[in-house]
Amino acid sequence: MYGVNMKYETESGSFYNYLSSGCKFCRDGAKMVLFVTGLCHRDCFYCPVSEEKQQNDVTFANERPIFSHEDILCEAHSMQALGTGITGGEPLLVLERVLGHIKLLKDEFGPEHHIHLYTASTPSREILEQLHSTGLDEIRFHPDIDTWDRLDCSNLATSIEEAKTVGLDVGIEIPSLPGAQQVADFALKHSIFLNLNELEFSQTNSQAMNQHGFSTLNDEGCAVAGSREKAEGIIEQCAGLHTNFCSSGFKDRVQLRKRLLRTAQTTAREFDEVTPDGTLLFGVLEGEVESIIGLLEQLDVPGNLYECTRVRVELGWWVLEDIADEIDSAFSAWYEECYPTYGRMVVEKTPLDEAGVFNY
Ligand code: SF4
Repeated sequence: MYGVNMKYETESGSFYNYLSSGCKFCRDGAKMVLFVTGLCHRDCFYCPVSEEKQQNDVTFANERPIFSHEDILCEAHSMQALGTGITGGEPLLVLERVLGHIKLLKDEFGPEHHIHLYTASTPSREILEQLHSTGLDEIRFHPDIDTWDRLDCSNLATSIEEAKTVGLDVGIEIPSLPGAQQVADFALKHSIFLNLNELEFSQTNSQAMNQHGFSTLNDEGCAVAGSREKAEGIIEQCAGLHTNFCSSGFKDRVQLRKRLLRTAQTTAREFDEVTPDGTLLFGVLEGEVESIIGLLEQLDVPGNLYECTRVRVELGWWVLEDIADEIDSAFSAWYEECYPTYGRMVVEKTPLDEAGVFNY
């Protein structure tokens, strides 16, 4: 149980007195991010959406581009997702798609698969009812920064009250920046939770962020100086408000790492080593594949300790180490570490002749 007046701090810089159900799954790395469209009716100066997605009608589940329902299920199974966060762009610009995805996920994983949705719009009761009856559990509103000082007279107040009456868990999610106190007062008045995200520089927003006078906290990170302090002030002043401050470090060091670990543990082959960071480590032999297989058979390497692709053979890193002296100079050999996610982006390659006794 989270006591609303008790502040919990985490090592990665986030803090909260309340975590919504959606946030708990996210914290455990068990939530799939379903980016349903890059289309958006707004133009927030801090928008972190990448160039590849911004204002493009594309869908991604985590890093995986989505072209079919099977793609979504494949990604959800690969990380053993216990929930999904639907985001964009503005998801409700493609309402039918969103409803289809919610139904798909609930049919596949059952009602306990938790789904939350972000929106920068103020949906009508009819749309909220449709979303809830299809399976949506939680909705997070993202009001336009230009309206933060007059939320009481906006359509948001009506939408929030309607969302509560149809049975959704309701919150507001905004970046933590000046003016957020007014949103906190509004959230408290409507008895809904407030998620404050640490404001971050991204490739697409850095120019606008500079123009608005923001700078990074330090040279290494992308977190904005003062964003955390703003959230601290709010959580201290607004007694009774359910608040969660999600730091930039928490997203990288906790959520992402845990999701990678879940995916790595699900997708690792018998010979892949899962590292503490959630990456996969294995050996690679490149050359004429048939000759490589011939060598492995000659050395009695069991078939479950290697796998052939069209251009190379992947094998246990310790197997590669064991057979190092037998490897023909016609083959290239290295240790490879990659992400377990779609595309298996390579993190590092270490040539066998440079590795010495390998120790990751
Ligand atoms: S509402 Fe979201 S996706 Fe749209 S511009 Fe603002 S931050 Fe970007």
